Amino acid sequence: MAIAVRQPSILPANDRKQPIRSSSGLVEAGLADAAALPMLERVAASFAVSVTDQMAGLIDPTDPHDPVARQFVPTGDELVTTPGELDDPIGDGPYSPVKGIVHRYHDRVLLKAVNVCPVYCRFCFRREMVGPGSETLDGAELDAAIAYIAAHDEVWEVILTGGDPLILSPRRLADIVTRLDAIPHVGIVRFHTRVPVVDPDRVTPELVAALKGRRVTSWLMLHANHWRELNDTARAAIARLVDAGIPLLSQTVLLKGVNDDVETLTRTFRALVQARVKPHYLHQGDLAKGTGHFRTTIQRGRALMKALRGDVSGLCQPTYVLDIPGGHGKVPLTADYLAPDGDGGWTVTDPRGGRHAYSEEVE
Ligand code: SF4
Repeated sequence: MAIAVRQPSILPANDRKQPIRSSSGLVEAGLADAAALPMLERVAASFAVSVTDQMAGLIDPTDPHDPVARQFVPTGDELVTTPGELDDPIGDGPYSPVKGIVHRYHDRVLLKAVNVCPVYCRFCFRREMVGPGSETLDGAELDAAIAYIAAHDEVWEVILTGGDPLILSPRRLADIVTRLDAIPHVGIVRFHTRVPVVDPDRVTPELVAALKGRRVTSWLMLHANHWRELNDTARAAIARLVDAGIPLLSQTVLLKGVNDDVETLTRTFRALVQARVKPHYLHQGDLAKGTGHFRTTIQRGRALMKALRGDVSGLCQPTYVLDIPGGHGKVPLTADYLAPDGDGGWTVTDPRGGRHAYSEEVE
């Protein structure tokens, strides 16, 4: 299979190709059949569409199962909603005291400064909230969100998410980071983003500098789902961040037909580690509307994690998690390896299924 690979580069903003944002654009680019136009229009009426040049360049249009196309090119399956699917599957709404803030956990808040993304993932958990028209917090709304953080001294970590915060200009990012830096109880600013893989030319030296405060520590959580996303250009963007001293973690969504097999997950997590990104979360697909065709069973996810545990380096082991619908938080789903033996000790199961007695021997 021929995959387009471009040399690492940082293109000036004016030289970057605009993303494909229309159904007709998908057809013109050879990413969808003309016969599919009516269906594409129906999907696009409900859920935003955008495919960056970087992602379009990775798609093999002759492969009907291309894992990159499956993530970004709409299909008619999105028009099917199951009874349990929700507008707000992880329950942001009930935990939003002011616009742009989600305060679900005691010591951290989400700051959703922007609700647009360079790409729109077909499985997005916030697909009812992101897209053109949602745009950014205005000046007064951002002031109110930052005032909320300043007034809550239990908030140690601020997670910029959205939307994709790295779509903001370096000037606006630097302004937000500087304002958070001035709040003494904020110790960590974390950015959740797909930009280094889906639009790596945005990761300019100016943008990297804007992410770093004078006092706070900045972390970056990269969303990547398949090793094919990590080509030379993406790895060069990641290197610019890591070389600047910003630690990177990753989150991956378990997606049927994209990465729900041991070989793909292994190769993806190894590619991340080799790029100096520690795999942190593997997410069970959220109950977002029109995404049932992407979800695997939890039983399947646990079996995949068990297979990885046996044969793949510990560096490549994320935690498999579920965001409980309704906003009740994130919990690990990984299989138990430990059970009481009924006699004060434990039975431990090894990665290959062998069972072993274990006594804690505590004095
Ligand atoms: S980048 Fe994140 S917020 Fe944006 S569409 Fe993809 S999953 Fe949703």
